[in-house]
Amino acid sequence: MKLLGEHAIVIGASMGGLLAARALSDFYTTVTVLERDAFPAADTPRKGVPQGRHAHGLLARGSAVIEAFFPEYNAEVVAQSGGLIGDVANDVIWIGRNVRLANGSSDLSGLLASRPVLEGHLRRRLLGLPNVRAVENCSVRGLVADATGKHVTGVRACIEGKPETTINADLVVDASGRGSSSATWLAQLGYRPPANEKVHVGICYMSRTYRRRPGDLDGKHGVVVAGSAPTWRNGIMLAQENDRWIVSTGGFLGDDAPDNDEGFLAFLATLPTMEIHDIVARGEPLGEFHRYHYVDSQRRRYEQLARFPGNYLVFGDALCSFNPIYGQGMTAAAQEALMLQACLRAGTKDLARRFFKAAAKIADIPWHIAVGSDLRHPQVKGARPPMLRFINWYIDKLHLAAIEDSTLASTFLKVVNLMMPPSSLLRPAIARRVFLGNLMPAISIASAAIETAKQEEPSS
Ligand SMILES: Cc1cc2nc3c(=O)[nH]c(=O)nc-3n(C[C@H](O)[C@H](O)[C@H](O)COP(=O)(O)OP(=O)(O)OC[C@H]3O[C@@H](n4cnc5c(N)ncnc54)[C@H](O)[C@@H]3O)c2cc1C
Repeated sequence: MKLLGEHAIVIGASMGGLLAARALSDFYTTVTVLERDAFPAADTPRKGVPQGRHAHGLLARGSAVIEAFFPEYNAEVVAQSGGLIGDVANDVIWIGRNVRLANGSSDLSGLLASRPVLEGHLRRRLLGLPNVRAVENCSVRGLVADATGKHVTGVRACIEGKPETTINADLVVDASGRGSSSATWLAQLGYRPPANEKVHVGICYMSRTYRRRPGDLDGKHGVVVAGSAPTWRNGIMLAQENDRWIVSTGGFLGDDAPDNDEGFLAFLATLPTMEIHDIVARGEPLGEFHRYHYVDSQRRRYEQLARFPGNYLVFGDALCSFNPIYGQGMTAAAQEALMLQACLRAGTKDLARRFFKAAAKIADIPWHIAVGSDLRHPQVKGARPPMLRFINWYIDKLHLAAIEDSTLASTFLKVVNLMMPPSSLLRPAIARRVFLGNLMPAISIASAAIETAKQEEPSS
């Protein structure tokens, strides 16, 4: 591919930064990833990625994109670290709108392993490329620009706590996550900050790992409960390496799960399925409780800015981060990396404008899926135009029909997995199945059954 410059810098070596660096490695002589943390010797959680202690799964689209960047990545995570590849529509139990979607085989192949394992394998593969290197314990403090202020020429950084130094580059990509300082750094160069759209959800994920025993969950790989009325409580239990389950749960707007055995179990018993509760009730805990406060979904609208310096981009969660209940963050970053590659193929002219415009289109889909779903909660603040109300009504109906119809369920999951656009749910063939499914009496029986299961005494 065409060489676009000598040196590119990526700020942050988490999933987003690693994927951005892979895209850049085709176009720059050297790519340097600057990471504030030291990389853990084993694949264990680290300070800069606190969400690493909570349930993570790699959806089908993310798994496929990473595989294209790093052939055999998925198989390596399985063979070397004990991850699991599974059919997202058949091996995972999905409960949304208080109903359970029918399982059925699909071509949605996802990858399960703890977040540090997913990242560790990606990092080792990236750093195996001859032109990519990483600097650990390197905290970026600001940007450096040319005399006109129109082009970023590098970053100011502290390495190993030493005095600030300048690192020059032809392109700098900020992948430093939700807490990104880009708005401040750009203001220091005289640029306006982007609008920061926020939707306050106040979710606290409480997580703990448990021993996974043969036969648990009838061999399925996980359960995902996306909260709905009346409790609005989310719950996720996913299989991980070393025969473990990770269980994460929490409600909206301060409805937090307790961090003690009794309270945690009682909280899980209020989910619209007892499957997570029952495994936790008889399971052997393998660690402590961990808490993560996910205050709001947020989206920085760089694509709307009239002025932006050349040679600078913002990437991944630093650009857009949404309620992770559908597990789409790493997949969105993978899609952005593919798109960054496509933008770079057309050269660096007007790169920021082209990149932010295309990245906004990528972010639109998971943002609308997550935020649209969150806005069903009456206390979550945000505009609810008639179209959103219609879509939520339609998705409710789709869920009801998908209790029995695995084709509908897998079509919905293809959208969640970012394999198909949301508009595909409105195709006549799908709309017909939704309509017919809602006429069938079996649906109401199945729907009643899950309600009954909810009210039953917890089994031990
Ligand atoms: C509770 C929870 C569960 C989630 N579950 C899923 C899931 O199941 N599936 C999924 O796909 N996604 C999930 N996500 C989202 C996913 O974690 C992120 O989308 C993904 O990590 C991409 O983020 P990122 O790399 O852009 O930023 P981050 O992961 O936040 O990483 C930022 C990196 O930048 C470094 N850094 C920060 N500032 C500086 C600086 N000044 N200098 C140098 N380095 C710096 C940090 O140390 C860190 O390494 C979840 C998120 C949360 C909160």
